This record gives sequence, C-alpha cells and structure tokens, in this order.
Amino acid sequence: MQVKVKLLEELQCIDLKIDGRQAEKDLLLQQLADLDREIQESRLSLDTLREELAALQGEKEENDKTLATEGDNIVRSEARLHDIKTQKEYQAVLKEVSTAKKVKTELEERMIVKIGEAELLQGKIAEGEQNLALLTGNIGLRKGEVQEKLDKLEAVIAGDQSRREETTAGLTPPLLNRYQMLREKRQGIAVVEARDGSCLGCNMQIPPQMYNNLYKGLELIVCPHCQRMLFIRAAETAA
Ligand SMILES: [Zn+2]
Repeated sequence: MQVKVKLLEELQCIDLKIDGRQAEKDLLLQQLADLDREIQESRLSLDTLREELAALQGEKEENDKTLATEGDNIVRSEARLHDIKTQKEYQAVLKEVSTAKKVKTELEERMIVKIGEAELLQGKIAEGEQNLALLTGNIGLRKGEVQEKLDKLEAVIAGDQSRREETTAGLTPPLLNRYQMLREKRQGIAVVEARDGSCLGCNMQIPPQMYNNLYKGLELIVCPHCQRMLFIRAAETAA
C-alpha cells in the first residue's frame, strides 16, 4: 500500500504542475482574446464613423434634390413674370421668387456646413484606417509571441499528460476516484506527508496507533481530520 501512496503522491506532483500550467495557459488564451478585442473595438469605432459619413451623404443628396427643385421653381416663376398682366399678380409672383431664393440660400449654407462635416469625418476615417492597419500589424506580432508561448506550454502539458497516464496505469480505478474527489474537495491536495505525529495537510495530531500503522505501510491511512491520504518520507521511516 505504501507503494500506491507513493505513486499517488507522484501523480499529485504531476497534477499540481498541470494545474499551474493550465492556469498559465488560460492566462495566455485570455491575452489572445484581449488582443482580438482591441482590434475589434478599433474596427467598430471605424464602422461608426463610416455610418455617420453615409448618413451625412444621404442628407447631402436630399439637400441637393431640394436645391434643384427650388432652382427650377425660381426659373419657372421668373419666366411667368413676362406674361403677367396685373400688378397684383406680378407682386405675388415676385414674392414667390424672393421666398424661393431665400430658401435656396439657406439650403446652400446648410450644404456648406455638411460638406465641412463630411470632410472632417473623411479625415477621421482615413486616420482611423491608418491606425487600424498599424494596430493590426502590431497586434499580429504580439499574438504571434503569445501563440509561441502557448505552443511551448501545450507541448510541456502534453508531456505531463503522458507522464500522468504512465503513473495512473499503476493505480486502481477506485483509488484514483478517491484521489480525484479528495483533490476537488481539498484545494488540489489529496495526498499529504505526515511528520512528527501530525498531518501536514491540516496540522492536526494523528492518533499514535494510526501513526504507527503508517510506518508498517500495510494499509492506506487517511487523516481523521481532513481525510487526506497520508504517507511518510523515507528518512522518517528509517528514524
Ligand atoms: Zn489532515
């Protein structure tokens, strides 16, 4: 039985290494996701600017149409002036023309503002595109570095896994299950050393008879306080 506990302790060493490397791997995966998000955010803000520009261009087109209509109206009204017979009608058409001209001027002023806004947006978009290209290049490099670390780590984990398989081959399924459950309940530590009469997992005293049985190594001894599986080091056995 002492041999099996020794094997379990070896397994735990491997599992703790895997746990640590898994956490490291999660961190690297998180870094990759963060880098992707950075690009995504930059792309989204560029899309927003493009949408704003498209909306502005739509408004400009509408304005253009209204301007053309107003222009036509003015030309038509002015042509009518030649055929008018009464003074009253003449005054009315003149008023029409002057109102239409006023509207046209206002529209033209609004167009100038919109053209200015569109130019500003185009500038921002050009700048945003440049920044995105730089960021994509930069992030591509950083992602490459992270990926390289990840590949190395995965190779190490694969090595740990095959060592783990070799180790578990010497253990029975019920013992492995017990080990697994204990690890889940006891912060990853299922097997622990006993020294000077105490369990080093929970630092509680182990009953002397139980401690003596540990030396014999004939049966699996479990700490009565934390239920972890106990073993003693060779030096302790010899002493
Ligand atoms: Zn204990």
